[in-house]
Amino acid sequence: MAENEIKKDPSCMDDYDPNSIIPEKALENIFNAIIPNSETESLPVRKALGRVLANDIKSEINVPTGRNSAMDGYAIKSSDLPEHEIKKLNLIGTCLAGKPFRDSVNAGECVRIMTGAIMPEGTDTVVIQEQAIVVGDCIDIGNDTKPGGNVRQAGEDLAIGDLVLEKGMRLTPADIGLLASLGYSEVPVFKNIKVAFFSTGDELRSVGEELEDGAIYDSNRYTLYGMLARLGVEIIDMGVVRDDKELLERAFIEAAGEADVLVTSGGVSVGDADYIKEILEKQGTVDFWKVAMKPGRPLTFGKLDSTYFFGLPGNPVSVMVTFYQFVQPALKKLMGETVYSPIMMKVPCISKLKKRPGRVEYQRGVLEQDENGRMIVRKTGKQGSGILRSMADANCFIVLPLESEGVTPDEMVDVQLFHGII
Ligand code: AMP
Ligand code: MG
Repeated sequence: MAENEIKKDPSCMDDYDPNSIIPEKALENIFNAIIPNSETESLPVRKALGRVLANDIKSEINVPTGRNSAMDGYAIKSSDLPEHEIKKLNLIGTCLAGKPFRDSVNAGECVRIMTGAIMPEGTDTVVIQEQAIVVGDCIDIGNDTKPGGNVRQAGEDLAIGDLVLEKGMRLTPADIGLLASLGYSEVPVFKNIKVAFFSTGDELRSVGEELEDGAIYDSNRYTLYGMLARLGVEIIDMGVVRDDKELLERAFIEAAGEADVLVTSGGVSVGDADYIKEILEKQGTVDFWKVAMKPGRPLTFGKLDSTYFFGLPGNPVSVMVTFYQFVQPALKKLMGETVYSPIMMKVPCISKLKKRPGRVEYQRGVLEQDENGRMIVRKTGKQGSGILRSMADANCFIVLPLESEGVTPDEMVDVQLFHGII
């Protein structure tokens, strides 16, 4: 470098920086540092929706508990099924779901049966009502039914001892229904985690305040609130902290005393007011990474006592991208969840996308069906890291790998669905 040339620090605008790490490496480092929460509690099944299961759940009963009819019709002995001719059977009673037929059924007899009703003793087959003709106290049946047909066996859905739900799953509406079907009233889950967050920046104003020249509304606290709320963690909103060393230091100490995780936005690049790194180095352990990604290059990860710390960039889109790529998987692991990878799909991209090699890009896209019903992705409008509209308009990230030099229309790309990661 010539002596009179200004020394160039790698900046967020550069495409390639040899000191940067790839996103996979950053995530690996974070995962290696996170020790999952092992404290558990027992919750009523409905309250456990969205929480992470702390034990395997095995069935202690057969579902269904007894042999029952899968259809409305007539319960018979399979030995009474005719080969070719029409057969007449005596109708000797009725059984409904919850109201069993108490007597046993002999050859030449049948019982009217409704879906879900327990099969009467002596019967093993149900002739559906559409295939029987009622003639007085008898029914006529043909040869359309297979022996054993239209009967649900005991334990057919779940048998005693079957593994039903695995430790580390996040409980869905289907899961809590399944738990109820097994008779569980309470379920063991991992204790919830507390996540504190604040925004940094002298230029930030809260909604309701007046905006003087150079000031902007703090939107990151809203997106962060939304992303954390969707994860179901306990939220501690610490507001805006000015770019002041003492105030920041105090906020860090307060968060470390209360929360399992602290997430901040802004102040992690190499600007003059970026004290966060300095404070963390004094109070805990810290890694300061330039991640080869766009948007969202600078990322700080560390620990203050036992509290994990994520210092996200300030730009509104960068906050969301780095949250979804790094913080969300980390929080899931901390919450005891064992599956934390987002759903990826490969689809044709109908937009032309510009990109330079050397970083992974998370462009914002809309995944939809074209007029032929084919799934395609197109990019949302402007892609700047400050343009939050690009996230609001999108339903997926288009993930372009490190080496990609852009995309020509109809090229296949990887997309990460918001649905399922959010
Ligand atoms: P910083 O990382 O602090 O240099 O911030 C980068 C950019 O993001 C600046 O233009 C900030 O004004 C903007 N920014 C930082 N924090 C927020 C926030 N909480 N809400 C909206 N924009 C922000
Ligand atoms: Mg700032």
